[in-house]
Amino acid sequence: MTTPPSAPLSLSFPPLVDHHCHGVVRHALDAASFDSYLTESDTPAAPGTTFFDSQLGFAVRRWCPPLLGLEAHCPADRYLARRRELGSEEVLRRLLTATGIGDYLVDTGIPGDLTTPRELAAAGGGAVHEIVRLESLAERLADAAAGTDSFLTALADAVADAADTAVGFKSVAAYRHGLDLAPERPDPGAVRAAAGRWLAGRAPGGRLTDPVLLRHLLWSAAETGRPLQLHTGFGDPDLRLHRCDPLLLTDFVRAVRPTGCTLVLLHCYPYHRGAAYLANVFPHVYADVGLALAHTGARARSVLAEVLELAPFGKVLFSTDAYGLPELYVVGAELFRRALARLLTEWVAEGAWSAGDARRVAALVAADNSRRVYGLDAGSLRP
Ligand SMILES: [Zn+2]
Repeated sequence: MTTPPSAPLSLSFPPLVDHHCHGVVRHALDAASFDSYLTESDTPAAPGTTFFDSQLGFAVRRWCPPLLGLEAHCPADRYLARRRELGSEEVLRRLLTATGIGDYLVDTGIPGDLTTPRELAAAGGGAVHEIVRLESLAERLADAAAGTDSFLTALADAVADAADTAVGFKSVAAYRHGLDLAPERPDPGAVRAAAGRWLAGRAPGGRLTDPVLLRHLLWSAAETGRPLQLHTGFGDPDLRLHRCDPLLLTDFVRAVRPTGCTLVLLHCYPYHRGAAYLANVFPHVYADVGLALAHTGARARSVLAEVLELAPFGKVLFSTDAYGLPELYVVGAELFRRALARLLTEWVAEGAWSAGDARRVAALVAADNSRRVYGLDAGSLRP
């Protein structure tokens, strides 16, 4: 029996798999610090303005106050006062348990007073899995390295160990250099020379920006067979956005394919249509628009619709990219579910999609694609 075009779509989502997220700050936040997490900017809002007056800020005021016993859209200072009254731990518990997220794939590469994956899972009641950030791993090892050869050996060992314990890797080469990197694997002599130069010239904690070493990391991770997440598109002003277009990765995508590695393009905005194209034409490329949905708020539906123009439905993954504030888990999950439900309802109502296909695609994007790509059913850390 076919569904009549006007039949309303009843849609329910499975527990979400958040395949890209971070810890949240443990300590209490004042208004200025809270505001700083509502933007990718690394400087305070312009005089006389606040980042609460943005799509993301409005989304926080829409979805979070009711979870703390206030009315939706309540003023920001009332919300922040209520937050202080309840305390960080209780706020974290209330917000996370309302997200409908069942699995967190946590990028543990950001330093600071952040919750660990286990603390997140304990507060939210889900399973956690680690994603290892390559550049942070290399920088930690460089701090302890006795010389070039011992550094490169320790790095190879650490990548192999991470492939055993983590479900994937992440690279922020887009930040450190840009995605306009030479595509091929650098030869060992060039890697050794670059590592020697970097170690000789770096102070403890120094960042890895050398393009040869960044490529070495990408290839080392790709060869483990674990999925490799790549930052693309917008982020904080540390990056040059025009050098973060995922289409710059096209030759790397081709070159790395024989390793069997899966590449997951993160964020992508405003290049999400290019990312959708890559996901369409290359079997090992997947795309995510988590951060973009949170930051575009009431416009999230349009961004998601653009991704679903060309990306095959088995290639799109849900994430929140929440960082710092548990509120970002709430708005990331809520905006995603609502945007996707509205789109699917519309397409079913106009007779373009069947209700059965719409339900299947909702489950794929919300959870099943990530479960398959990261092999989640094989094991996870539970609190
Ligand atoms: Zn992130």
